[in-house]
Amino acid sequence: MDTRLFDLLPIGVMALDARRRVLAWNQWLTEHTSITPGQARGCTLGELFPNLINPRFDMAVDQALQGGGPQILSQTLHHYLVPIEVPHLARHGLGRMRQHVHIEATGHGDDAQVLVSIIDVTSSILKIEALTDIAQRLENDVNRDPLTRLFNRRFVWEWLEHQHKQALRYTYPIAAMMLDIDHFKAINDRHGHLIGDRVLQDFARLLTQKVREADIVARFGGEEFVILLPRCDGALAADVARRIVRRTREASLGDLSPGAVTCSAGVALFNPSDPLSASDLLREADRRLYQAKAHGRDRVVCPEEAS
Ligand code: GH3
Ligand code: MG
Ligand code: MG
Repeated sequence: MDTRLFDLLPIGVMALDARRRVLAWNQWLTEHTSITPGQARGCTLGELFPNLINPRFDMAVDQALQGGGPQILSQTLHHYLVPIEVPHLARHGLGRMRQHVHIEATGHGDDAQVLVSIIDVTSSILKIEALTDIAQRLENDVNRDPLTRLFNRRFVWEWLEHQHKQALRYTYPIAAMMLDIDHFKAINDRHGHLIGDRVLQDFARLLTQKVREADIVARFGGEEFVILLPRCDGALAADVARRIVRRTREASLGDLSPGAVTCSAGVALFNPSDPLSASDLLREADRRLYQAKAHGRDRVVCPEEAS
């Protein structure tokens, strides 16, 4: 066969002998590597690309030569066989052309030959990565409050639905905390909505600093926030809530002087031995929040103190 036909293909094609030395090297490979067929012929890939160490390629060639049928090196695991720099890819974090490699052998013993074809799949990878990125951003936007970047009400219900089942199955408690900034309307009226927004953002930051990684902090609406603490008992949740209320009183939120912003909190506990529904859990926390408001604000009402 006239291997010049390979030059017409829009993919990389090389033929190797049984000792893995290049027999044919097509135009596509020359264009992308600047190695001419004359330079390539008689060399192994290791000699052509001294930094190329690809044991999986050697194994695949062995398997093809031993009658194992066509072998594939997917870009997912191996990224590429022949290093080809694509400068504009660096900003996508890829750097080198991604390649799908197909290896097939014909003949036996010393007469065997291996045909290696290399398909450039970089643009499909870029498209997939861009789509994954968009999907992640959309998911983030759907679940997040734009002002504070905390989770939103929608996410709270979704999380509770899942965690409620898990907590029942694996018998662990979930503490729920409902928090509300005191007299926030007056803060807006006195200092303006922009400062009000910054108070909400600073308060959100303060809440995230006071909880563990596994806890969920959400803006439930307006100046009302929810914290969900899986595997947290009532005493620990009460302690966290008290620390949040104290820290809010002491902090300078939205650059207002300490004490200008206070909050109230209600705590409720999902206990797998005496379970509440997800909505009753939040309703209980909300009921205690309003007890905290009624008892003077700037305080916490916990299960053992509630009436
Ligand atoms: P209480 O102590 O009883 O909770 O009193 P409050 O004034 O905090 O409660 P109220 O429900 O009367 O007022 C809540 C205010 O929160 C009214 C609303 O304009 C304001 N608010 C809600 N969302 C936002 C927001 O995104 N930004 C700002 N700046 N204000 C908001
Ligand atoms: Mg309020
Ligand atoms: Mg409110």
